[in-house]
Amino acid sequence: MKAVYIKDHGDAGRLIYGDRATPKPGAGEALVRVKACGVNHLDLWVRQGMPGLTVPFPHVLGCDAAGTIEKLGTPVPHLSVGQKVFVIPGLSCGSCEACLTGQDHLCAHFDILGQVHDGTYADYVCVPVENVVPLPEQASFEEAAAFPLVYMTAWAALVTRAQIGAGDRVLIHAAGSGLGVAAIQIAQLWGAQVIATVGSEEKVSKARKLGVERIINHQKKDVVHEVRQMTDKKGVTVLLDHVGAATFEKSLACMARGGRMIVCGTTTGGDVKMNLRSLFSRNVTLHGVRMGAKQDFMQAARFFGKGALRPVIDSVFPLKKASEAHAHMEGRKNFGKIILTV
Ligand SMILES: [Zn+2]
Repeated sequence: MKAVYIKDHGDAGRLIYGDRATPKPGAGEALVRVKACGVNHLDLWVRQGMPGLTVPFPHVLGCDAAGTIEKLGTPVPHLSVGQKVFVIPGLSCGSCEACLTGQDHLCAHFDILGQVHDGTYADYVCVPVENVVPLPEQASFEEAAAFPLVYMTAWAALVTRAQIGAGDRVLIHAAGSGLGVAAIQIAQLWGAQVIATVGSEEKVSKARKLGVERIINHQKKDVVHEVRQMTDKKGVTVLLDHVGAATFEKSLACMARGGRMIVCGTTTGGDVKMNLRSLFSRNVTLHGVRMGAKQDFMQAARFFGKGALRPVIDSVFPLKKASEAHAHMEGRKNFGKIILTV
């Protein structure tokens, strides 16, 4: 099969488009013919190398996929060959206490597809059958491939952890990222008031098209000052920060009393300065969220099926141009998801 893989860590030029052996599904596994896969920041980190992550080379990148079932290792009552599906990116043992209580992302053997296991930048990907979910008939493969990682992460962060509600004022950083768009839509679904940050005027107008009224261009305005103005000096009750070093201190300064702050990514680095006084004196809760559990995916997927959560697709590249897609994301040029078609 054709695949995009790496033989060592480095820049986007290290991505190789070439032949890899087609995986064979064992008992309890499904072979999925990939039609489209999403590009995530995680793919960039795996390509570059992350502390504590040992990647077995050669390694196929990618954690999001949509396609059709090519083969089942053993029959599964609700799945059939040829069926349209998308893939849950979280892999776990399936039988420990965490897995059996719906907390599979806390499993000691938890991994994300494309980190250690071969991923989705390929004609085929082999995954456990519990990671394969039938697609709503009307969904396109591109939309479905744009959904899994960012929507399950945003759902886990805002709904499961922060328990967002209609009374919340929510600040979402980097509204143009796939995760930012997902978080905006989920916050709107729950009736919360959304404030979004973006890095250009072009992205201000794109965020406005998502129905966001309060948008801060952080290149031109001070985020803390603007948030105070927009919230009658109260601050935000929920904040989603996946930017990290560049935003963390200001994020904390934006929090209202009793607010819930979620860190679910560090696209600008993870080393931050923090004054603990500003955390405890305002009774702020700090949550760390790494993706989510399968139930977060399934709950978000119900709204995808109804058309209430619809990914925004920035651009579509053929698989063999994956290095251009990575460069596009690294240049922060995208608003919404970057998709590879296979
Ligand atoms: Zn487990």
